[in-house]
Amino acid sequence: MVRSIVSILLLCFVATTSYGAQNNIDGVRIWPSPDNTRVVFDMKTTPSFSYFTLKNPLRLVIDLDNTSHTTSLTNIENSGDLIGKLRYSTPKQKSSARVVIELNRAAKPSLFAMEPAESFGHRLVVDLADSDPHRGGSAALASTSVVIDESSGSRDRDIIVAIDAGHGGHDPGSVGPAGSYEKHITLSIAKKLESMINSERGMRAIMTRSDDYYISPNRRPEIAREKKADLLISIHADAFSQPQPRGGSVWVLSMRRADTELGRWLEKSERHSELLGGAAEVINDKSSERYLTETILGLSMDHSMATSHDLGNKVVEELKQVTSLHKRKPQAASFAVLTAPDIPSILVEVGFISNPQEEKNLNWSKYRERLAKAMFNATKRYFKQVPPDGTLWALERENNRTHKVRSGESLSLLAQRYNVKVSSIKAANDLSSDIVQIGQVLTIPRT
Ligand SMILES: [Zn+2]
Repeated sequence: MVRSIVSILLLCFVATTSYGAQNNIDGVRIWPSPDNTRVVFDMKTTPSFSYFTLKNPLRLVIDLDNTSHTTSLTNIENSGDLIGKLRYSTPKQKSSARVVIELNRAAKPSLFAMEPAESFGHRLVVDLADSDPHRGGSAALASTSVVIDESSGSRDRDIIVAIDAGHGGHDPGSVGPAGSYEKHITLSIAKKLESMINSERGMRAIMTRSDDYYISPNRRPEIAREKKADLLISIHADAFSQPQPRGGSVWVLSMRRADTELGRWLEKSERHSELLGGAAEVINDKSSERYLTETILGLSMDHSMATSHDLGNKVVEELKQVTSLHKRKPQAASFAVLTAPDIPSILVEVGFISNPQEEKNLNWSKYRERLAKAMFNATKRYFKQVPPDGTLWALERENNRTHKVRSGESLSLLAQRYNVKVSSIKAANDLSSDIVQIGQVLTIPRT
């Protein structure tokens, strides 16, 4: 007992020291010149960074790991015309900072860190080689104001997936014949899924619980809503009084429960604004409010249920490559965790903890990893097809062309025709082989 307390204290200490290495943006300077614009970020320590570029509008996105930003990006002196504005955007990880440099025309970025020298400290240097240095004339001709963008207008936000590890704390969930607790297995799978999602560009995970504590089933979808989740995945393990039943299953909200929930939400008028967002303030007339709420809420519920069903089917397809299935189609159920009318929600039963073989499997880390991967693959496939508005994936899709495969066409032929790499087409469509089918609609990335 004493030993475990010591090791917990040790863990806390390690966590604290790693936070101590937190970086910070202390200042920003812009140095325009006729053919190159340099942006210098003054940093507290050596920056760890990654970057990518996006079109419409053209911009360079820089992610700085473990960095907070106390420096405002407004009112930075900029006498050049290559950079439109500098702003912060929602970072992939809470602990990091995302800086967006909006460009008025194409520029080739190169980024590097500089060690302290003379009166300067640590720096991140961004050099932007101007593609058309003469178009803007001399630096003195144009002076562009640098303004901070309101974060709500972001068009490249991450898709947020709320992961709900079933049970926790005083509620162990089901207990297997060898004594395994469902709450531990669900949390482990949830954490694996969390890290897969967080390492995917354009996606971010939030957890309803990240440790062994209790949250009521009704509170779980509320957490997802507070974090503006695009999806809620609840993870559970099944149990039965007999040892035979086995296999995974996927659950979505039943139509009947959906109707009841809709009615329940309509009764709670104080919560309407929460669900309607900005629309609630526009509706002044109390008599039409209920009608409008009902309409919007109904549409939202329809959309959530259709999404849940589509995604549920994809999860079933992926799960059957890992485990046997208890149910071959998504099942309709009346679980409290699935009742958010505005957030598509599914519940995945990863197997029967009451089946001795499945209990053994679920205690195997590699197996839990495969289950998490199946949920991850299904989610990614779904959102690649139907990215939510305002997300990076939606923006990228908008910037891409599509091509419907005709008889006799192959990936290499299309790559040649559109002058892109076969590998980029495969990546954009999440293809694992070179085989395409007639009628298949492919995303053709613009390089
Ligand atoms: Zn459960």
